[in-house]
Amino acid sequence: MDEKILVTRSSMPSFEEYTAEIRDLWESRWLTNMGAKHNQFRAELSAYLGVENTDLFTNGHMAIELSLQAMGLKGEVITTPFTFISTTHAIVRNGLQPVFCDIDPKDYTMDVSQIEELITPKTCAILPVHVYGNVCQVEEIERIASQYGLKVLYDAAHAFGVRYKGRGVASFGDASCFSFHATKVFHSVEGGAVCFKDREFGQAVYSLKDFGIQSEAEIDGVGANAKMNEFCAAMGLCNLRHMEEVLALRKRVVQEYRRLLADIDGLQLNVIQKDVEPNYAYFPIVVDEEKFGADRDEICEKLRQNNIFARKYFYPLTNAVSCYKDRFDAGLTPRAAYVSRRVMTLPLYADLDLEIVREICSLILECKK
Ligand SMILES: *Cc1c(COP(=O)(O)O)cnc(C)c1O
Repeated sequence: MDEKILVTRSSMPSFEEYTAEIRDLWESRWLTNMGAKHNQFRAELSAYLGVENTDLFTNGHMAIELSLQAMGLKGEVITTPFTFISTTHAIVRNGLQPVFCDIDPKDYTMDVSQIEELITPKTCAILPVHVYGNVCQVEEIERIASQYGLKVLYDAAHAFGVRYKGRGVASFGDASCFSFHATKVFHSVEGGAVCFKDREFGQAVYSLKDFGIQSEAEIDGVGANAKMNEFCAAMGLCNLRHMEEVLALRKRVVQEYRRLLADIDGLQLNVIQKDVEPNYAYFPIVVDEEKFGADRDEICEKLRQNNIFARKYFYPLTNAVSCYKDRFDAGLTPRAAYVSRRVMTLPLYADLDLEIVREICSLILECKK
């Protein structure tokens, strides 16, 4: 392969579409601090995602971090180690204690049958992740949360546009956070959002993203600066217009991977979940080295030699990274550890050529012994 094939490549509107969108800003000179683009983007997102309220942030991480803060939590948060480091950092940076729940080996989301045994008098919330866009067991999580009086905040960074039983995935739980980072299915260069039901939570999080400012003389929260600027909101508005076409193009790539890699002994493909309209965000494969005859690292290396850069998402687990490994025990989440050592995500983006998908699959199959 002459050109480098990375795991993802940002979808972009045409240059003309973006410049037309930002033209107003040269007249208004209102570049950030909840301007017209910000407010329009926020309203369009609520409609697209099928939720009551949305607020916008400079990135997905700050959406999670400030949402936890706005919930006014203290104590322990039950979460998953099979995620991007942001999820765990957001808990720790709030002075909260993450308690790691193991994952379901089929869809890699939190194993809900293990949540209740992790609940203690200090538990205040559950922070599950719709990892790879796979929807968590939202009904069971809701039942547990209401029985024990816990808040539920979903990390929905992977699940933009996913629907479950006809409902937007962010309509479950107290709140759900999205990331609009350039590498995600949908992006605003950098950006993030929280969708929520409770108005008071909304006011708190809105103020926290702007230093805790209520009015000129009133600062009532220890806030941060996490406002989305107008140029990012404009990129989001443009990209939102093309979601349908992006999803159709991604679907075509996923179908080609599935056609070529289905029923290969030792390769586990991502599940097709019942009642879920997926967003084709990632294409993870889990390699069982005993059945396949080669392990995940060998396949990654083989692809790399051919200029194809698959990624080991999520390896290591967040409870095993260097800053946390003395504090947490990844041995307590053995199934997550098993998947983490064997998983890789293959290149997937809207304009990925099917010829390259076929090449990637044949390189993978060449590793099989
Ligand atoms: C990308 C991501 C985040 C953080 O989002 P940013 O916009 O990069 O700050 C959080 N959680 C998960 C699971 C992610 O993939």
